Amino acid sequence: MTDSVIPAPTPASLPVTGTTAVFPVGRVFCIGRNYRWDRQDTASPVDMPPWFMKPANAVVPAQGELPYPPGTSDFCHEVELVVAIGRGGSDIDPAQVEAGHIWGYAAGLDLTRRDLQQQAKRAGNPWEAAKAFDHSAPCTPLVPAQVCGHPRQGEVWLAVNGTERQRGDLSELLWPVRELVAMLSRSVALQPGDLVFTGTPSGVGPLQPGDVVSGAVADIGRFSMTVCSPPEPAWRSASASMTGVSS
Ligand code: MN
Repeated sequence: MTDSVIPAPTPASLPVTGTTAVFPVGRVFCIGRNYRWDRQDTASPVDMPPWFMKPANAVVPAQGELPYPPGTSDFCHEVELVVAIGRGGSDIDPAQVEAGHIWGYAAGLDLTRRDLQQQAKRAGNPWEAAKAFDHSAPCTPLVPAQVCGHPRQGEVWLAVNGTERQRGDLSELLWPVRELVAMLSRSVALQPGDLVFTGTPSGVGPLQPGDVVSGAVADIGRFSMTVCSPPEPAWRSASASMTGVSS
């Protein structure tokens, strides 16, 4: 047996509704535009949608406090259906995706530092700084497909301080779940533990410290969180108190 030279990272996981069991999270795939955002939207399901990733440890329970991330002044919400892969595979037949590969579903948030995303788009840079930060993928507990089936319709909504910001329906997904998962499996070999965020309806917008962000995906998951300011690092307040003091 090989010794670890540092403590092994804590594996990420999501609770499973109605049990004490957890779903171990491997990788997090996120699909770009997958709903029409307006009538003029020319997004077409015949084009492969862009996808990007978040680290597994960005997945946190969608409850309690949501830290406002550093390095942004445009912290945005995107409510999404999340698919949990139970059996992996490459080049999966779309007709086999639901019964053969999907373990369950959750409601999730693809939180985004929108200002950094716009900068990255303009510069042709990668999106990680905008998408792959700590706490950027809150999820409700997973519901097994054995319990909820494979939803093809149902409301997807999000409100901030009780005012609705986003509303769509799973029936409006440009790429249905079975097509998305099949498409991804033609690009990478999917593995048990992978999550797929399936895209967000129109109405994305900024969050501020103190906001209560709530929402739901069909009957699968409902969440409510309060955006909180990050604590001031001790070194920064310490250095501020040093201002003007010679040493
Ligand atoms: Mn998204």
